[in-house]
Amino acid sequence: MFTRQATKVLRSLRKDKTCVRIEKRNHPITRNSSTNVVIIGGGAMGASAAYWLTHKSPGTCTVTVVEKDPTYANCSTSRSVGGIRQQFSIPENVQMSLFGAKFIQNLKNQFGPEADIAYAPNGYLILASPQGAPQLAQNFKLQQELGATNTLLSKDQLREKFKWLNVDDIELGSMGCEKEGWFDPWGLLSLFKSAAVSKGAQFVHGEVQNFVFTNDNSLKGVKVRLPNRDEKILEFDACVLAAGAQSGAIARMAGIGTGAGDLSVALPVEPRKRYVYRFDSQGKNVPPVNSPLMIDYTGVYFRKDGPVFIGGRSPDSDEEPQADNLEVDFSYFDNTVWPLLAARIPAFESVKVQSAWGGFYEYNTFDANGFIGPHCTYDNLFFATGFSGHGIQQSPAVGLAIAELILDGRFKTIDLKRMGFERLMKQQPLYEIGIY
Ligand SMILES: Cc1cc2nc3c(=O)[nH]c(=O)nc-3n(C[C@H](O)[C@H](O)[C@H](O)COP(=O)(O)OP(=O)(O)OC[C@H]3O[C@@H](n4cnc5c(N)ncnc54)[C@H](O)[C@@H]3O)c2cc1C
Repeated sequence: MFTRQATKVLRSLRKDKTCVRIEKRNHPITRNSSTNVVIIGGGAMGASAAYWLTHKSPGTCTVTVVEKDPTYANCSTSRSVGGIRQQFSIPENVQMSLFGAKFIQNLKNQFGPEADIAYAPNGYLILASPQGAPQLAQNFKLQQELGATNTLLSKDQLREKFKWLNVDDIELGSMGCEKEGWFDPWGLLSLFKSAAVSKGAQFVHGEVQNFVFTNDNSLKGVKVRLPNRDEKILEFDACVLAAGAQSGAIARMAGIGTGAGDLSVALPVEPRKRYVYRFDSQGKNVPPVNSPLMIDYTGVYFRKDGPVFIGGRSPDSDEEPQADNLEVDFSYFDNTVWPLLAARIPAFESVKVQSAWGGFYEYNTFDANGFIGPHCTYDNLFFATGFSGHGIQQSPAVGLAIAELILDGRFKTIDLKRMGFERLMKQQPLYEIGIY
């Protein structure tokens, strides 16, 4: 399927003279037009795909990114905590994160000497209870085999190394080293976008309203509403769906989840609201400036953020908040997050919340992992969505994978076949244990 699609796209790259014309226009869809690849959503995933497509095929593949909010105020990327770690339980997630770490370490080679995304390689510290310790050790083994550089720490080692930590009910810790930490997600998105634009990608301010079909019900374009409320049609050879938390709703516009046969299966990606609290502590023995991002077995996490801390916890499934707004529930900190934090870090008994924000995970309700690859019926519609809280670190690898599928017809750098939509069609979930 991939090979057929790649051939189709490459054939159109050679023949389609309109592409060159479009590339030179400042406002590419002031009238109906066409492009080789339309990317729906210009967040980290969409911008990364645009970057790799334009850099792998300079001057030949025309790429148009349609983004409904060029301020990016509410997208997942802008509201992300920006963590990167290799401490996952399935090989693909470890490999994509390793790729991301290497990409960040080589950032200046990719984007020039000024490129900086404030990478803090402080590591991740994941803590396991006696019940969770065997799984943590098993994950560690896999991560080591794939090239991660973390270490396992016993209760005594944890007590010795992290004097601010209460380890009474902890059995084991796993600490990532130089390839783990956090960075500025907005900085990464900006680098992808400007590098893609420099190679000819067009970023269009508009909202995808619907798909346009051929007579035999294949996808051939999108209907885009411009800020002046005009609606234009943008035809494509291939389309990348990277609309974050809105991806499930946009897939429905193509009949995915509302049609017959294979089209009766919906793309199970929806918004799930998460809170991030910024707080200060006046307690004694606070975690120092070089502390890792800590994730407790209860799901609560924190990291340093300049002079203060940020932290939070994903709610249990029966306490998921409404996801139709980004308001913050401060009582969730008081009643759930704070008690767990204070139990783990005694200095956090006395904290003062300074501010907080809400953000949407683009949550895959099937197995909380990304979908990377084509739809089973529409072989020119490629998914890059559903990363459920671990997508920013995977965005360099996912963008490259999508570019490889479209331009080369197959995954070349990391074999991500198992991350495709087929697993949903076959009802074979790919559960990741290391998500929070
Ligand atoms: C609070 C929080 C903490 C997180 N922490 C981490 C972390 O530590 N590590 C990590 O790896 N990941 C983390 N994530 C997840 C990560 O941020 C996301 O996986 C990633 O940013 C997803 O990028 P995206 O481009 O798919 O989505 P987005 O950034 O949401 O981009 C999608 C874009 O599509 C646009 N769009 C939507 N509908 C349309 C339409 N109809 N037409 C045109 N455009 C449209 C939107 O405006 C948006 O800009 C976190 C997320 C949140 C919310």
